[in-house]
Amino acid sequence: MTETTLPPQHQNRQPGIESEMYPLPESLGGNYHSCRKLEDKVAIITGGDSGIGRAVAFCYALEGADVVIAYLDETEDAVATKKMVNHIGKECVCLAGDVGDIHFCQRIIDETMSHFGRLDILVNNAGEQHVQSDFENITVEQLERTFRTNIFAYFYLAKLALPHMKPGSSIINTSSVTAYVGNPRLIDYSSTKGAIISFTRSLARHLAQRGIRVNAVAPGPIWTPLIPSTFPAEDVQTFGGDVPLQRPGQPREVAPCYVYLASDDASYITGQVLHPNGGTIING
Ligand code: NAD
Ligand code: MG
Repeated sequence: MTETTLPPQHQNRQPGIESEMYPLPESLGGNYHSCRKLEDKVAIITGGDSGIGRAVAFCYALEGADVVIAYLDETEDAVATKKMVNHIGKECVCLAGDVGDIHFCQRIIDETMSHFGRLDILVNNAGEQHVQSDFENITVEQLERTFRTNIFAYFYLAKLALPHMKPGSSIINTSSVTAYVGNPRLIDYSSTKGAIISFTRSLARHLAQRGIRVNAVAPGPIWTPLIPSTFPAEDVQTFGGDVPLQRPGQPREVAPCYVYLASDDASYITGQVLHPNGGTIING
């Protein structure tokens, strides 16, 4: 860690709440220029209420897509995202529930199809992480829950979405830099993020013949509700200080990766990972 970058703060429950963060995360920069790259497409974004998912929902709407956002229970954050999307003139369907439950995943797909009649982009992005400084103290319950939310849900949604996806559709999964460099206090979480990379590569190869692309984004330290709801206040203060760019990234600096991967600009890209991580070299 190099320097203090953020006011110390902690939220006692996960998922965290974006409106309680100070400073607020930046969902969109003033210099983002949309080119209608996703005109009339329909995207599902899990964890789309806040953080990276909110910025993706906003950018997708600016690019001409309607969105379905799924989130655990942060209704106030979801309503704020919906307002941002509606303000641009696009639709935003909000669905609260546990993506680790396959029945909720089925509901996400059913409501998307009944409301919009099509599905072009699946962004698997919901995630949770729980600090445990002693590996031996990671409970079976925590291990199973983290795997259910972070990787089982990605499988479920891909499996249920695919019957509705046509050639040209794409799936984008959120991994993490921890998949490559590890994290001694987030061993279960990093393991799920590594699984997401292998899932992405294997599914991409499997779906290549169907013209459906599968890619991943592996962010570094990004200022989102996940951070104050995961780490103690003193760690939040120096969050992101140890990457080459010496600061945390903002959601608006990550979302364009998801636009690119979903758009036709990435038509020759599948099974790959983009790394908005502040300069950490990961060789992967
Ligand atoms: P965030 O808290 O804004 O988003 C995570 C979202 O996941 C929450 O909004 C929550 O509604 C949803 N979620 C969690 N458990 C769920 C469940 N069981 N069912 C349904 N939804 C659930 O934080 P974020 O940082 O934007 O996280 C988005 C993704 O980015 C996560 O997969 C996270 O692991 C990944 N990521 C974040 C960072 C970072 O530094 N913020 C770094 C690398 C990867
Ligand atoms: Mg949230």
